[in-house]
Amino acid sequence: MEIPRLNLAVVGAAIGGSSLALLRARAGARVALFERVAHPRAIGAGIALAPNGLAVLRGLDLEPALRDRGRPLSSPRIVDDVGRTLLAPLLPRRGDGLDQLLVIRRSDLHRVLLDAATEHDRIALHLGVEITDVTADASLRARHDVDDTWRSYDLVVGADGVRSSVREHLDVGARMRASGITYVRTLTAATEAEGVEAWTRAGIFGSLPLPDSAYLYASAGSPALRAALAARDLDALLERSAPGPARPTAVCDA
Ligand SMILES: Cc1cc2nc3c(=O)[nH]c(=O)nc-3n(C[C@H](O)[C@H](O)[C@H](O)COP(=O)(O)OP(=O)(O)OC[C@H]3O[C@@H](n4cnc5c(N)ncnc54)[C@H](O)[C@@H]3O)c2cc1C
Repeated sequence: MEIPRLNLAVVGAAIGGSSLALLRARAGARVALFERVAHPRAIGAGIALAPNGLAVLRGLDLEPALRDRGRPLSSPRIVDDVGRTLLAPLLPRRGDGLDQLLVIRRSDLHRVLLDAATEHDRIALHLGVEITDVTADASLRARHDVDDTWRSYDLVVGADGVRSSVREHLDVGARMRASGITYVRTLTAATEAEGVEAWTRAGIFGSLPLPDSAYLYASAGSPALRAALAARDLDALLERSAPGPARPTAVCDA
């Protein structure tokens, strides 16, 4: 079926689901976008948008709103323990803004996408609706639907995260394997950030600048850090990490 006549359901209205809904609606599809969270809140730390992702968001006319909230990074680098450059991606010098990364709070990116989805007349956004059943013929049912109510579409897309229940229901054979590494992501009040990612024996550490803060992240691969994180013990997490001048004000793992 051609996209302009497509009746599409997207499960999950975070970054992936909202972007997809906007792209398909722009191509003419009618989209029902389901999100189990009734009142999406600011969650997460920062995110670095690469030029290819930024080009898609430019195509959705969202770039100005994102640039207002983000900070460009022209020379991203990956370094080793002592600061030697391991990789400096050569972004083609185009001079049109797509030769940089854009660092932005994840919550700002999500808000911009969700607002655009809310305003789009071909997207029906259903907040607080958790999809509990999906069938291979593109029907689905939400938690509070009465027993025999099925909602039918031409296509259902599961954008419901790493533990996707859509994927589970359709039994497509995908298997999830944990890497054993959890990332800790933080925003700090301090604005200094090196704009680099360090690959070290102790793990991966990154520090990227935001307009009014810094976005720091670290892989918590050591048993001590993993234990502190599992216990949601921020003091122990800080104590077991190398002490530094910038203290996190919020921590999320993703
Ligand atoms: C809480 C959180 C914080 C993160 N923070 C960062 C960060 O700061 N920096 C970074 O680089 N990366 C972060 N990540 C990782 C990165 O944002 C994700 O990899 C990326 O956003 C994946 O987006 P997604 O839309 O595919 O899925 P997700 O972000 O996982 O979103 C899935 C959405 O589907 C909804 N959903 C799930 N099941 C159902 C259902 N049955 N019915 C309806 N809705 C459902 C969820 O509520 C959620 O809104 C974070 C991820 C999460 C989940």
